[in-house]
Amino acid sequence: MSAVDRRTFLAVATTWAAAPVWADTDRFALIGQPSQGGWLRGRVPVGTTALRLDGKPVDFATDGAFLIAFDRDAAPVAVLTAVGSVGAVDQRLAIAPRAWPIEHVDAPMHPPGLPDAEFARLRSGELARIGAARAIDSGAQGWRQAMIRPAHGPISGRFGAQRVFRGVAAAYHSGMDIAAPAGSAIVAPADGMVVLAAVTDLFTLEGHLVILDHGLGLNSAMLHARKLDVAEGVMLRQGQTIGEVGMTGRATGPHLHWSLTWRGRRLDPMLFTA
Ligand SMILES: [Zn+2]
Repeated sequence: MSAVDRRTFLAVATTWAAAPVWADTDRFALIGQPSQGGWLRGRVPVGTTALRLDGKPVDFATDGAFLIAFDRDAAPVAVLTAVGSVGAVDQRLAIAPRAWPIEHVDAPMHPPGLPDAEFARLRSGELARIGAARAIDSGAQGWRQAMIRPAHGPISGRFGAQRVFRGVAAAYHSGMDIAAPAGSAIVAPADGMVVLAAVTDLFTLEGHLVILDHGLGLNSAMLHARKLDVAEGVMLRQGQTIGEVGMTGRATGPHLHWSLTWRGRRLDPMLFTA
């Protein structure tokens, strides 16, 4: 895609929700360039009663709008199906592959000082809390928005990079790292409800962790905060302050790690911001 094409695409992508008139109501209206870690927004054909992605049910809003997104390791083809009273409409989607970089990290793979058994015991409880938070559907409408970066600073770690901790290969990097100074503001990247806020407690890896539900299954997680100023259940507007950047949990310096997920798929935050 050329620079001009990309600008046009972003302009269309950020204003799509303001254009409710679609030329052909019997077909899917789709906006976006589906790729690994990316998204597609659209509107179902008129009369649609159920939407499926690769055979699995997907939610859509009462106005017919929806968002679907694709995992870092998504297969090259997906099929979107609208089921209505007169039959089904299939839309084949080509998901562009990405080349993921190798990133070397000068830190141990596990948090120092915690024996493996103790880490495993704590971790199962933490993962249960994260899973329960991500299962909440708050009805927030942030999934319709072009997102903003939740902190100001250079990007110091990209989504999808395979990390090698002092020579030991680990899981790929699940979010975007923003190297903001300690104490600088963390803001909501889009409208959303706070579904998890570790305000007084620390997660072993994430430290003071906050998770927002943006609706239709789209979630943001923000890690390593020095301080969080929000409580669970609070509905936030895009740009509203959440807390302060820090280095709690497993972090070698102050930064904000921002990750996005949609129904278990891990997404590239870079593709959700204009
Ligand atoms: Zn990170």
